[in-house]
This record gives sequence, C-alpha cells and structure tokens, in this order.
Amino acid sequence: MAIPSEAVRVRYAPSPTGDFHVGGARTALFNYLFARHHGGRFVLRIEDTDQKRYNPEALNWLLRGLRYLGLDWDEGPETGGEYGPYVQTQRLEIYREHTRRLLESGRAYRCFCTPERLEAVSRELQEKGQNPGYDRFCRKLDPEEAAVRAARGEAHTVRFRMAESGEITVHDLIRGDITFQNANLQDTVLMKSDGIPTYHLANVVDDRLMKISHILRGDEWVNSLPLHVHLYRALGWEPPVMAHLPLILNPTGKGKMSKRESRAPDGRVMPVFVRRFEEMGYLPEAMINYLALLGWSFDDRTEIMSRQELIERFSLERVNASPAVWNYEKLDHLNGYYIRQLPVTELAERLLPFLRAAGFEADREKVLKVAPLIQERITTLSDAPAVANFFFLEELPPYDAAELVPAKGDAGMARIALEKAREALAAAGFTQAELEAALRSAAGDLKIKPGQMFQPIRVAVCGRKAAPPLFETLEVLGRETCLKRIDEAIRKLQS
Ligand code: GLU
Repeated sequence: MAIPSEAVRVRYAPSPTGDFHVGGARTALFNYLFARHHGGRFVLRIEDTDQKRYNPEALNWLLRGLRYLGLDWDEGPETGGEYGPYVQTQRLEIYREHTRRLLESGRAYRCFCTPERLEAVSRELQEKGQNPGYDRFCRKLDPEEAAVRAARGEAHTVRFRMAESGEITVHDLIRGDITFQNANLQDTVLMKSDGIPTYHLANVVDDRLMKISHILRGDEWVNSLPLHVHLYRALGWEPPVMAHLPLILNPTGKGKMSKRESRAPDGRVMPVFVRRFEEMGYLPEAMINYLALLGWSFDDRTEIMSRQELIERFSLERVNASPAVWNYEKLDHLNGYYIRQLPVTELAERLLPFLRAAGFEADREKVLKVAPLIQERITTLSDAPAVANFFFLEELPPYDAAELVPAKGDAGMARIALEKAREALAAAGFTQAELEAALRSAAGDLKIKPGQMFQPIRVAVCGRKAAPPLFETLEVLGRETCLKRIDEAIRKLQS
C-alpha cells in the first residue's frame, strides 16, 4: 500500500483514568512505528472527558512511560502543535459547537429524561429480555419546544438520532469488513447535562479536526465503530482509515490480559503497568522489541529488532487479526539479550540508580568494574543488587559455614585452603592473572584440586557459591576486603 508520507497522521488517545498499561503502550507503539515508517506525525491526545474516572496521577504515569519507552510525540501536551489544545477538557467549546450543528440538522436531539427514569427504563427492557438501553422517549419531542425548555435551564443531555433500520458496513484494515445492524444500536448520549461531551463525540470531532488519517486502536473499541462512522457521516465527514489491533491475552492464553498486577504461583510479581517494568529494570530496547511482536511480525522468524529496524519494517499488513498472548519469559529473554549487548559503560550507567536504590554506596568507578562481571548474570537491572551485593556491602550477609566446605572435602580441608589462600593473597599482585597463578600454585602445594581451593575462597568473599568469575571478583574487591572476609570465614569454621 503506497501512502504519501504527508498524509499519515496518527494519534494515541488515552484516557487518564489509571496507570499506564502495557496494552496501551502497545497501541502507542504501533501508532508511533506507523508514523515514523511513513514519515508522518504521531499525535498524543488526552481524552479526559470522563471526569468521574479521572485520576490526577495518570497523566504523569503516561508521559513518564512514553518517555521511558522513547515514544516521542510530535504534537500533544507539553509539545504543542498546530491542532491543539491536545487535552479534551480544554476544547469544550469545540464540542458544544458541533453539538449545535447536529441539533440543527436534526441528527441529534435533546433528552430531558432523569437518571431515575433512565434506570427504570433500562431495567424494564432487561426484564422483557430486550437490550437494556434507552427507549427513545425524547426523540419525538418537538425540537423547538425542546430548545425552549433547554433555554429555560432544564437539565438535559444530547443524544444521537441513530438510524432505526438497515445496516452499516465498516472496513477495518486488520479485520476486513464488519457489518452492524442499525436496529441493535442506541441513541447514544453525545453531550452530557454538564456540557461535557462523551468519549464518542469528542473522539470523532478531534480525529477530524486534528486531521487524523488512520485510527489504530485496541480491539475493545470495535463496538463503538458503527456509532462513530454514523457520526462522521452525520457531520458530513469521511471517517479515517480504521485498524483495530488484536487483543492481548493472559500468559495462559485464556482471557484478556489482566488490568491489574498479579502474582505467579512462585510468588513473582507479574507486572502490567509500564511504570513497573521500568522500576524492575526492563530496558526500553527490550520493551519496544517485545511489544512490537505482540500482534505484528516481520517474517515469522526474526525476533530481535532494534527501534530503527522496527520503524523500517513495520506495516499494518502484517498485523495479525488473532489475539496475541503475553509471554513474560520471552520478554525476559529479550531483556537479557539487550543487557548483554550494552557497552559496559552504558550498562554501568543504567545500573547505578538500581544499586543506589538498594542502599549501596555505588560510585561510577566501582560500578564500571562490577558491570562486566554481572552482565551475563542478570535478566533485569533490578537483579543487580542481589547478584552484586558482596561488591558493595561492608559486611556479608550471614551464610552457612557448611558452604565453605569444598566438594569431596571437609571442614579441615576448607580451613587449610583458606589459610593458604590468605597467605597467597597477602603476597600476590592483585591482578586477575597474578591472582590466578598464585592460587593455582597454592592448591598445588596443598595437593588439592584447584576447585577445592577456589570454592572456599569464593564463598568466603562472596557469601555464596554461585558468583561471577573468581579472579576478576577478587581483583575488584581488593586485597583488604578479601583478607578480612577470609579471616571471618576461618573464624566461622572454628566455631
Ligand atoms: N480514549 C480512548 C482510550 O482510552 C481512545 C480510544 C480510541 O483510540 O479511539 O483508549
């Protein structure tokens, strides 16, 4: 499909009602990739007309999350742009004007029904086994009379005058043609009694006024499609191209991905908010790569793709209509991969805040030495404090003296090995190569296997058996710390 670049204007239009979910991030990403691929514009619009569900923190979470993911918007809050303001509550006069247009053309009508009446009607319809909704009571009111009542200050909403019969077919780029029976549709409220529009009116008006060319949004909006297309036509407009992105399912493959965080059977937190992935030390590179594969693929094989490659390769033709299953293991795998790809200086820079947050006095120079030793051993940046704690702690956390005992050896052997190691380390040059030579020859003198020599040392200085390569570790820790910890280990064996 050839799309002239100046024609592409897409938007991500979240409602600030809660935390920024990865499902929303996937929608934002697809819009971003599509815009960048075509050299178009990526617009961010805040749909905050639902004041009851408004969450004052949500906008911060959203902007921070988008910045963490590097999804920079060309127009929107804090950036501005030609078609602003980009926050809907700052555009109320625009929606009121379009409501007047719809009233004048007869495509909308004023409804004076009270909330109590609406509730009773809906209940009644439900009891009769019909679709609950509105019985179109005010649709028959004389518009002039209704205008007089409104002018007198009588509370009212404005509803869309929906076609009562026939059908509407909408073409969706991903799902193909979708046909809806008008008889199943409602006279939906467009303008509430407080003068604030509903999502539907504000969304349609803004997409038009902001010259949006393609609507890429979550599958959950498919049900609103017929109303929106009717609304476009009632206003005399052609709707943008529509593309509804596939659902994201829970890791089990059953049910829509959870809106809240949960715990796996092993107690692990299963994050769903962008903020949490950032806090847990997932790299934006991995998140972008992973999210791009949620419903899109390049060729069914290629998994690892940089942002630039994704931009070059992204196309709506390869967005899948069937749901995508969230997979934490795959994300972990990608994150580990991207961590190993980072230049050491960059890894150190990214580790710094995680180590500091864990309470370690981590300076750049030290972290630069530690980073290559743990690079292969962490899946997320937040794994680092636990994996590297012994580099930063003054005192090792308590460990069991039995850990010091080497394979096929006993406490006596451990003690002899540590005493000999102490001697060797007191004298050796503190470089990886010199340390290795000194400790190997020490093992030779004792006539024990090198492994039997190294294990007690490793446990003595790291507090555990599974640790980064020994000689590099010793070098980074330095003579003083190594000797002190070996002395402690010897004492532990004695008591
Ligand atoms: N405000 C809607 C949301 O929260 C936007 C849906 C759309 O993109 O039209 O997802």
